[in-house]
Amino acid sequence: MSSDFTFRRGLVWLRNDLRIQDNTALYRAAKGCAQVAAIFIACPQTWRSHDEGDPVVAFRLVCLRELQQSLAERHIPLYFLELQKFAQVPRAMTQIVEKLDVDALFANAEYPLDEQRRDSDVREALKKIDVPVEYCTDRTLLPPGAVRTGSGDAYKVFTPFKRAFIEQCGGTDFAPLPQPRGMAEDQSWPNWIEVQGAHNLVQTIPEQLPGFQPVPEKNGELLGWRPGEKAAAKRLRQFREDIDGYEDERDFPAIDATSRLSPYLNSGAISIRQCVHMALSLNDGRWTGGSDGISCWLSELIWREFYTHLLVAFPRLCMHKPFKEETDKVPWSYDEAKFRRWCDGETGVPIVDAAMRQLNQTGWMHNRLRMVVASFLSKNLLIDWRWGERYFMQHLLDADFAANNGGWQWAASTGTDAAPYFRVFNPYSQSKKFDRHGEFIREFVPELRELDDDKIHCPPPMENYPPPICDVGESRKHAIAVFADLK
Ligand SMILES: Cc1cc2nc3c(=O)[nH]c(=O)nc-3n(C[C@H](O)[C@H](O)[C@H](O)COP(=O)(O)OP(=O)(O)OC[C@H]3O[C@@H](n4cnc5c(N)ncnc54)[C@H](O)[C@@H]3O)c2cc1C
Repeated sequence: MSSDFTFRRGLVWLRNDLRIQDNTALYRAAKGCAQVAAIFIACPQTWRSHDEGDPVVAFRLVCLRELQQSLAERHIPLYFLELQKFAQVPRAMTQIVEKLDVDALFANAEYPLDEQRRDSDVREALKKIDVPVEYCTDRTLLPPGAVRTGSGDAYKVFTPFKRAFIEQCGGTDFAPLPQPRGMAEDQSWPNWIEVQGAHNLVQTIPEQLPGFQPVPEKNGELLGWRPGEKAAAKRLRQFREDIDGYEDERDFPAIDATSRLSPYLNSGAISIRQCVHMALSLNDGRWTGGSDGISCWLSELIWREFYTHLLVAFPRLCMHKPFKEETDKVPWSYDEAKFRRWCDGETGVPIVDAAMRQLNQTGWMHNRLRMVVASFLSKNLLIDWRWGERYFMQHLLDADFAANNGGWQWAASTGTDAAPYFRVFNPYSQSKKFDRHGEFIREFVPELRELDDDKIHCPPPMENYPPPICDVGESRKHAIAVFADLK
C-alpha cells in the first residue's frame, strides 16, 4: 500500500447521493483509500413501508445506471444488492466487507429515524470486525444539531434559525469538493459475490424492483424529467440565468420560474453545496441583500435545512406524530371517497384539481399549489393531513420525508412555526391571484379550457366537470372552530 493512503481498499455506500461531483463520502474514500468500490443497497420492503413511490424508485434506478458508467470511467466498480428490509443490512454489509476485503466504509449521513438506526447498527456490526465507518455531512450544509439557541436547544422557529444558520456558516462559500481521483485499474474486484440470506451482490442495476411498477421512459425522460447528474447540472446552469426573477415570479404556477431542482436534490444527483455555491457566488457571497431573487432562493434552501434539522431534534416527527401534540385531538375525517376525489383531481375546485393532476402526470407540483391543496385537504375537507402526506410521498419525484412532513404540518397548522389555524387558504382567491388568466388550470383541466377567465376559477354547473366537493366558506369556518376548541 502506498503510504499516501490511510486504507488499502475502501467501500462507498451510496444512498440518496447519486453523483460523482461534490460527493463527500466518495471524495473522502478516494482520498483515503488506494482502491475504492461503491455499493447501492435496495430495500424494497422498507421503502414501501416508508411510502416511497414508483416514480422516485424508477428515477433512482436510472440515476444509478448513469452513475455506474461515470464511476467505471474512474475504475470504481458499482455493486448492487437487493435485500428486503433495513434490518438485514448490517449482516449483509459485514459479509460484503469481508468478501470484498475492504478495510473502511464511507457513506453520507441520512436523517430520518429508521435510516439513522440502520446506520448505527451497521457501524456496530462492522466494529466487531474492526472496520471503521465514516458517515459524512453531505445532505445538509451544516450537520443537524449544529445550530442551537443560546440555551443549547434546537430552534423551533424558522426566522431565528435562519439568522443563526447564516451566522454559523461564517462566510464559507461552500465551494464544491474537487473531483474524486480515478483509481488504478484493479482486476481483483469480483464481478459478483454470494451473500447469505440475500440475493447475490452484482454489478447489474435492475430495470425494476419487486413491488414497484415501472414508470414508462420516453426519450430518456421519466414523467418529463431526465434523471441523472448531467441533467441536474444542466438544470442548475439554466436556473442561474433566471435566478434574479425568482422572487417576483416564483408564485405563479404557469411560469417556469422556480429551479425545479428538487428531484435532483432529493436523489442527490446534485448537491446542496453546488446550489448554494452558485447562488452565493452570484451574490458577492451574501445570503441576504444583493439580488432579491438570489436571497429569496437561498432562504428556501434554508427551509430545507430547517426541516431536516427539526427531524433530528424531534424524532417523534418520524413517527407520524404532529409537532403540536394537542392537534392530535382534531376529529379528523377519514372519508375515503372524498380523499379519492382529492387524489384524482376531481374535487370540482379547479385550482386544486389542476394541481393534483400536475402531480399525477409529472411527479411534481408547484410550491404555491402544494400549500393550496394541503390546506384544502386538511382544513376544508378536514381529512387527516397524514393521508395527504402519504399520497405526496408516493407520487412526488422529490419526495423527501423532512420537507414533505414539514410542508404538511405547516399547512395543517399542526407543525412548529406553521400557518396559524385561523388562516385558511381560499382556493378561489389563490387561483385568481396566482393563475389570473387560468393558464395553468387550462393546461391540466382540459374540461375547463373553453371557459372565460372570470368563470374558470369557479365554474358554473357543467356536465363534464363535478360540482365543488364542499362549500369553501362553510368548511373554513368549521375548521377554524374545531381548531379553536383545542385551546
Ligand atoms: C405540503 C408540502 C409538501 C412538500 N413536499 C416536499 C417534498 O417532499 N420534497 C421537497 O423537496 N420539497 C417539498 N416541499 C417544498 C417545496 O414545495 C418544494 O421543494 C419545491 O416546490 C420544489 O420545487 P423547486 O425545486 O422548483 O423549488 P425552488 O423554489 O427552486 O427551491 C429550491 C429548493 O429549495 C428547497 N425548498 C424550497 N421550498 C422549500 C420548502 N418550503 N421546504 C423545504 N425545502 C424547500 C427544495 O429543495 C427546492 O428544490 C413541500 C411543500 C409543501 C407545502
